[in-house]
This record gives sequence, C-alpha cells and structure tokens, in this order.
Amino acid sequence: MNIGVLALQGDFAEHIAILRRIGVQASEVRLPHQLETLDGLIIPGGESTTIGKLAVSYHLLQPLQEFGREKAIWGTCAGAIFLSRDALRQQPILGLMDITVERNAFGRQVESFEIDLDVPALMKVDPDNHPYHAIFIRAPLIGSVQGAAQSLATLPDGRIVAAQEGHWLATSFHPELTGDDRFHRYFLSLAG
Ligand code: GLN
Repeated sequence: MNIGVLALQGDFAEHIAILRRIGVQASEVRLPHQLETLDGLIIPGGESTTIGKLAVSYHLLQPLQEFGREKAIWGTCAGAIFLSRDALRQQPILGLMDITVERNAFGRQVESFEIDLDVPALMKVDPDNHPYHAIFIRAPLIGSVQGAAQSLATLPDGRIVAAQEGHWLATSFHPELTGDDRFHRYFLSLAG
C-alpha cells in the first residue's frame, strides 16, 4: 500500500509519521505526477484557503479531482473543507464529497477543544469499540451530509464531525495528533 499526503501546507509530517509507524509506505505530494503510484491520499489540517490557493498554483486541482474519482481520499480538518462539495463561501475546493462544511464553526483558536467520541465504524479495524479521543483545532463542522455520504460520528449534541462517502472520508478533528491509529487504519481499509 502506498499512501500520499498532500504536502502544500499544514501538518502533513504528522500523518506521514503515523503511516510509517503502522508500516505503510508514505510520501509527500506536491506535484500532479506524484499521484500516479498512490493507492490513497490524505489531505491534512492547516488552512484550507492556503491549501486551495497553492493547489491552484501547482496545477493540482484537476489531477486531484480525477484521482479522487478512482482512489480513496481522506481530509482532516482543513482537508475536509477542501474535499467538500460546499464550504459555504468562495475558495478553491475539490468539490468531491457530498457534504457541506462550516468553517471555524466552534469559534477562534482559543476555543479549540478535545472530546471523546463514539465511532462505531472503527470496529471494522478494532472490535473493541472504545471512545476515540478527538482533537479539534479551529475546526469546521460538517453541516450536512447528502446523497451517499453518511455521518460516522457526532458530538453529544448531534452535530456531525466525521463522515464517509464510499472511498472518501472527512473528519473535523485531527487523528494525526493522537497516538490512536484507528482512523488511519480505517482509511487504509478504504484504500485497499
Ligand atoms: N480553520 C481552518 C480552515 O478553515 C482549519 C483548521 C485546521 O485544519 N485545524 O481552513
């Protein structure tokens, strides 16, 4: 399995470190031709407007959309915004996944928080369904899921923070900042 991590901006190094730790070949992606040999791609957290602008300047927008039609993509935080069909404002996005996202839905950086989530889908990689400790940093909310997209996890008040549509995965939080590799292994199951 060969997984790429979009390395235009944000915390791509942390994703690469986790992938390598669980024995997966991982590489940084900055140019269209680097997508060629990949089985899946992770788009990291960071700043979605910056990732979008850089993707336009590096001529990556269309190659990423074509890649996503065939292969698995997982967007974490800013990456989820970039993967979505609608970010509720004008900025370059891939427009692939049938979700709308609300940027900075929890307020400013100081309002960042951590919380334990129940994510039954993770039982696919670990039958013991213990809580998933999720880290939210100026996070987006998944405002709605449409079509084939489904919610994978919600906050206690019901607001959606993880979703899946076929081989596309979106999380509002940052699994690369925890020691828990279940979400990475779950993504591998979609890429495999
Ligand atoms: N607030 C950022 C955005 O809107 C996302 C933050 C993050 O990725 N941690 O792009």
